[in-house]
Amino acid sequence: MENSNAEPSLRVLSIVPGTSVDGPGLRTSIYFAGCAHKCEGCHNPQSWDFSSGTEMTIGEIVRIVEENGFNVTFSGGDPLYQATALTELAKALKIRGYDIWCYTGFLFEQLREDSSVTELLSMLDVIVDGPFVLQQRDTSLLFRGSANQRIINVGDTLQSGIVSLWQDDH
Ligand code: SF4
Repeated sequence: MENSNAEPSLRVLSIVPGTSVDGPGLRTSIYFAGCAHKCEGCHNPQSWDFSSGTEMTIGEIVRIVEENGFNVTFSGGDPLYQATALTELAKALKIRGYDIWCYTGFLFEQLREDSSVTELLSMLDVIVDGPFVLQQRDTSLLFRGSANQRIINVGDTLQSGIVSLWQDDH
């Protein structure tokens, strides 16, 4: 039977509450299915399949985030391939006061030119951008796998027009 109250849903591989590797503090990391960047040496090629994982509504995801109470990180896969529903999820989380980090294989400059993600960008606190580059892999880096990736303060960058890197002030 058709659900007349259908709300947007997202394809999710897993949700891990209490992780400390995807941004500052303990966070609830949400791993979204699907990625077409196909970086050589990707840590998780199983995540490339857009039909893997399970379909979850925004309400279901928000409930899990609220149960745990941690700030949130979107990862994958690449969450930006589900940008429309991700925007609605970000909105629901932002209204509830959560800090949101987002990993993507796209460059920030590409996203900034794409009007379909303008609203989403405005709700993200930090974006870790760019593909994983095996030749620049560095396990000593905080919150990123290769040196080309940038941890970008989205608010400051959108305001000034110049890419501003996130500073750990804790
Ligand atoms: S963007 Fe991330 S998930 Fe996608 S192929 Fe590259 S490393 Fe893997």
